[in-house]
Amino acid sequence: MLLDRREFLIGTGLVSATAAFGLGRPAFAASEKMLGTGKVTILSDGYMSFPSRFMYPDVENDALSAFLAGHNLPTDQMDPPCNLTLFQSGDRTILFDVGGGSQFLPTTGKLPEALDAIGVTPEDITDVVFTHAHPDHLWGLLDDFDDLLFPDANYYISEPEWDFWIDPETVNKVREDQQGLALGSKRRLEVLADQITLFKPESEIISGVYAHDTSGHTPGHCSFEIRDGSEQLLVLGDALAHPFITFEHPEWPFGQDVSAEHSIITRKRLLDFLATRQMEVIGYHLPYPGFGRAERHNSAYRFVAS
Ligand SMILES: [Zn+2]
Repeated sequence: MLLDRREFLIGTGLVSATAAFGLGRPAFAASEKMLGTGKVTILSDGYMSFPSRFMYPDVENDALSAFLAGHNLPTDQMDPPCNLTLFQSGDRTILFDVGGGSQFLPTTGKLPEALDAIGVTPEDITDVVFTHAHPDHLWGLLDDFDDLLFPDANYYISEPEWDFWIDPETVNKVREDQQGLALGSKRRLEVLADQITLFKPESEIISGVYAHDTSGHTPGHCSFEIRDGSEQLLVLGDALAHPFITFEHPEWPFGQDVSAEHSIITRKRLLDFLATRQMEVIGYHLPYPGFGRAERHNSAYRFVAS
C-alpha cells in the first residue's frame, strides 16, 4: 500500500517520536472474560506514544505536568495502549474497531498476530463495528495488498461518522496536523462504500449490541453496550481516553477531539451514567486490558480497573 505524501510525512514524525521513546512492551496479548453466555476477549493492537503537549495542547502546561507527576506518570510523554474488543456469542464473532494496521505507526497493527494467537482467523469475523474513524481504530481495515482484512464480515458505522469523514470538505475543517489522517480515513472508508451498514446512534445495531451516542471526540462517535442475559458491558472507544485526566478532569479539553466543547459535555454525561449504573467498561486506551468502572470521587470521578 502506498502512502500519500501527507500521510507519509505525518507518519514519519510519529515514528521518530516513538523510536526515541523505545518502550519494551509485548507486541500483543489477549485477556478474556465471560459475559452471559458469550465471551469477551481483549486483543492488543499495540500502543502509541505521543508528547503530552500533542495530546493536551489546550491545558495549561504547569497544571498538566503537576497533575501527571501527582499520579507518578511521565510528564512529557503519553503511551496509550490500543485495546480491541472481540465478542463471541452463538454464531457471531463481533470485532469492535480494527486497530491501526501496518501504515499508521510501527507500534500498532498487531491485531492479526493477536487473533492468530487465540486461534481466530480473519474469515471467522462475522461483524466489524466501528466506534469512529480515527486511524488507530480504522486503518487496520486493509491488508498490505489493500484488500479487506476481514473479507466475510458485515461492517457497521454510525451515519454521522460516515457523513463527516466521507465529506470532501472535512479535510479543510480538521486541524492542519490532522489533515493527512483525515484523507487516509476517507480513502479507507471509500473501500467499504458498497457494503457498509450505516446506523443511527441510540439504536440496537445487532441483537444484543446497542449504540450509545458519545459524539464529540468525532461527530458520530459511538460506544457500544453489549448485553447478554442480565449482564452488560460498555465498549467505550475514545469517549474516555485517559485513565486519570478524563475521569478527574473531564472538563480539560483533549487535543484529539474534533469538538472540544461537545466532548466535555459528553464525558460528563457519560461518567454520570456509568457511575450511576455501575456499568463495567472497556477503554480502548485505558490501561490494558481496559476493563473497569467509573466511580464518583471528590467532585469528579476515578477509574477503577477490574
Ligand atoms: Zn483512539
